[in-house]
Order: sequence, then structure tokens, then C-alpha cells
Amino acid sequence: MLSRILIANRGEIALRVIRACHEMGIETVAVYSEADRNASYVRLATESVCIGPPDCNQSYLNIPRIISAAEVTNVDAIHPGYGFLAENANFAEICKDCGITFIGPPVEAMRQLGDKVEARKLARRAKVPVVPGSDGVIENEKEALRLANEIGYPVIIKAVAGGGGRGMRVVHNDISLHAALASARSEAEVAFGEGSVYMEKFIVEPRHVEVQVMADQEGNVVHFFERDCSIQRRHQKMIEESPCPVLEERDRERLAEAAIRLIKEAHYVNAATVEFLLDKEGNFYFIEVNTRIQVEHPVTEMITGQDLIKWQLRIAGGEPMTLRQKDIRHQGVAIECRINAEDPANNFSPCPGTIARYIAPGGPGVRIDTHVHQGWTISPNYDSLIAKIIVHQETRAEAIATMRRALQEFVIEPIKTTIPACLEILSHNLFVKGRIDTGFVERSL
Ligand code: ADP
Repeated sequence: MLSRILIANRGEIALRVIRACHEMGIETVAVYSEADRNASYVRLATESVCIGPPDCNQSYLNIPRIISAAEVTNVDAIHPGYGFLAENANFAEICKDCGITFIGPPVEAMRQLGDKVEARKLARRAKVPVVPGSDGVIENEKEALRLANEIGYPVIIKAVAGGGGRGMRVVHNDISLHAALASARSEAEVAFGEGSVYMEKFIVEPRHVEVQVMADQEGNVVHFFERDCSIQRRHQKMIEESPCPVLEERDRERLAEAAIRLIKEAHYVNAATVEFLLDKEGNFYFIEVNTRIQVEHPVTEMITGQDLIKWQLRIAGGEPMTLRQKDIRHQGVAIECRINAEDPANNFSPCPGTIARYIAPGGPGVRIDTHVHQGWTISPNYDSLIAKIIVHQETRAEAIATMRRALQEFVIEPIKTTIPACLEILSHNLFVKGRIDTGFVERSL
């Protein structure tokens, strides 16, 4: 069992992990940058350590400072949250070398799945369908041309080290291939320090459907059903829901079984999300594994009644997964809206600043995951997520109605937020019918 952990993150996810720990009797150490000195998660942690100035490179991404904070405060483990160092295998390895448990997968599994070309190979070995595409990294333009014509346009160039929708380019013909290849490479180089790219068939108007999986150290693997995350802007999720409104029961099982096969093949431990694209004919294709807890995990918690963070902590502490697959049931429909400090009327440009007036929604079926409050200043240094609203109801129509009234209740002033955009989507007749795909937002908003 873990008795004291450090959370190498900030904001709502740091608070989420701290809350789970305290309910389990685990002490917490928060780390914070100077911009987060007065944050609610810092106040609520058992102990806290300032790790540097607001710039992430000098604080939340600074491995020596985080490890020093962990050593000084004598923790058993580090929870990385999502973003920042959560998918950095070198960080996980350093934790291990320092005798600190990394609350996540083994370093090897993380390395393998973090490389998207390797992950595709692993999926093929596990007999999981992958999007048709290159076997490995694309070495030169000649190879790219040959491959694109073999697969057939449109194709998508993707960064091997990709994440957050960066380093991706959709290409429709030979003429634009050259420029797309160069710009995907340079974007990946800047974002990940690694410019390698590969190619996939661009699936037209797919749904993004992902399976939540949890594995323990004894090789037990269970799934917690799927989430539909087709409401995206620039390949970034805005609204997520579970279950996927169009999956038949048999396909739901096939998808979950594929995810479990892949996770077993990787000798994976702890929480993972296996992401797929679902085409119009109902075929699904593996795209990637996220080797961490995800922003949208509460959607799954609401429909299953399971606390995924607590399972992460128990598994990292060496406890076996006592849940069996047949014990995990889903009930009703959950939807999450991400509320960002961005102005939808101005091309979603970031809107940092101080929140002068804050009134959160509530009532039956509403959960708010946030670290903000009246007087809190949203810093331009970090991700613009302000809050997540998660609703849970018996039916999808009721969940949509609850979400709409929760969004209407929410007062966050004078900051511009994505609330109006979420409301517009939730009122759209195709969304209400569940007829959405990853291009919906760009076409409809
Ligand atoms: P990242 O790791 O950057 O998030 P993903 O591989 O998870 O990248 O893809 C993010 C999103 O990009 C997907 O949800 C989907 O909308 C789009 N996408 C990725 N690959 C394809 C593809 N082959 N065809 C169509 N859309 C794709």
C-alpha cells in the first residue's frame, strides 16, 4: 500500500488525485509553480513544495526539481496526472531508479506504446485491426509518394511521437504531399524533439471511440467500456460521452476485447486508453494507446460507479485487481463538456485572466471537476481548461437536457469560455440524434 504520494501536476487533475488519496488515507504532496501558489489543490494537499517559476520548463516539466521535491518530502510514489510528464518514459525510468513508484505503466510498455509505429506493430501482433498505412517511419519523399498512391488519397501524415493533435497533416494529392511532409516533420520536431513521421489512410468522417482499460501486476486486465470522443476541434476533444450512441452490443464487446488483447500483448500495468476510429461501415481501426489517466475519465466513472484514480493507486501499491469483468456494469448515459478559457467568437483564442464572479451549477446528475473559484487567475502559461462538467442520467436525451441547463447555470465572469460553443453543439439536431463524427465541429460551428 502507498502511504504518501507526490502529484507531478497542477489544476483539476492534481485536485482530483488529492481527493482520491485523502479518501484512501494516503498523504499527498503538491508541487506548484509561482503562478499556482494560491491554488486550491496546493491548499488541500498534506504538504506542498514550490518547484519554480511559471514557465513549465522550469517547473512542471523540470524532472530534477520534481524528483528533488519527492526526495525531500519522502514519498513512496508519484502520480503524473495527464499532460506534462505523464507520457515521458525517461521520467518514469528516473522515478524507478530513485526508488519511487511511478503511478503508471512499466517503462518498457510506455516506451513501446509511446512510439506510434511500434504501437501499430504491437496491435498487428495482437490481431487488432490498424488503419492501413506505412509499416514504419517514412524515410523520404519518394517512399511517401509510392505509399500514398498505394493506400489511396486522402492520407494523413502523423508524428511517431505524436500527441495533442500536433504533427498531423491530411493530404489529398501528390502535389500537396511534399509541403505536408515537411510541415508535419518540423511541427513534430518542435513539439516532441523528434521529427519522424508515418502515414495512414485518412478515414473519412469517422467516430473516435476509445476503450478504458485497467491492468494489475498479476496480468488481470479488465475494461470499463468505451467513450465516444467524436466532438473535436483541431483533433482536440471538446465533448465526450459514454456509451457510444451507435455501437451495437456485439460490436461494443468486440471493441473491448480488441483493446484487452492489445494491452495484454504489451504486458501493460495500470490505466490505459486504447483509441480507435470507427468508420461509416462500422469497421474499427486502432490508432493509439494513451498510457495514462485521461481528461475524460469521469465519464466512465459515472456510468460504472468505479473510481479509476483509486484503482490506479491500489494497483501501483501492488494490490491485485479484485474486480472481475462481470462485476463491471454500465448504467445510463454520461456526457462531459470541457470548459476552456477560450473565446469561441474569436477562433477559440485563449482568454486568461482573473475570475471576478463564479457560480457553479449543481443539482441531480451534475458533477464539476475543477480547481478554480472566485478570484482565481487563469495563467497564460498553462492549458486553458477551467472546469469539466459531467452529467449522468438514465437516457441520452435526459443527459443532454441536464447538460444544457448546467451550462446555462454556469457563471464565469468576465472570462470568455467555451460554454456558448458547447451549448450550440448540444442544441444541434445531428448531435441530438447522435449522428456525429470527428469533422462535425468544423463543419457545424
Ligand atoms: P494525438 O496523439 O495527437 O491525439 P491521434 O492518433 O490520437 O493523435 O489522433 C487524434 C485525432 O486525429 C483522432 O481522434 C481523429 O480525429 C484524427 N485522426 C487521427 N488519425 C486519423 C486517420 N487515420 N483518419 C482520420 N482521422 C484521424
